[in-house]
Amino acid sequence: MAYVISDECISCGACAAECPVSAISEGDGKYVIDADTCVECGACAGVCPVSAPSAE
Ligand code: SF4
Ligand code: SF4
Repeated sequence: MAYVISDECISCGACAAECPVSAISEGDGKYVIDADTCVECGACAGVCPVSAPSAE
């Protein structure tokens, strides 16, 4: 299961900079994770100030 970014995202961009496989990009109103690219490392969840990314 890939990580998913919730609506709590404030579009700070910190997660995109940390993702080792560049699976995160800026979407409409929040950042989004490409499920096919995510390797479930959890780095995005570790740097997010509002705990928006989670494994679902
Ligand atoms: Fe990228 Fe890892 Fe987050 Fe997946 S869990 S989006 S691979 S940082
Ligand atoms: Fe959104 Fe958190 Fe990523 Fe910042 S680190 S863009 S708040 S998901």
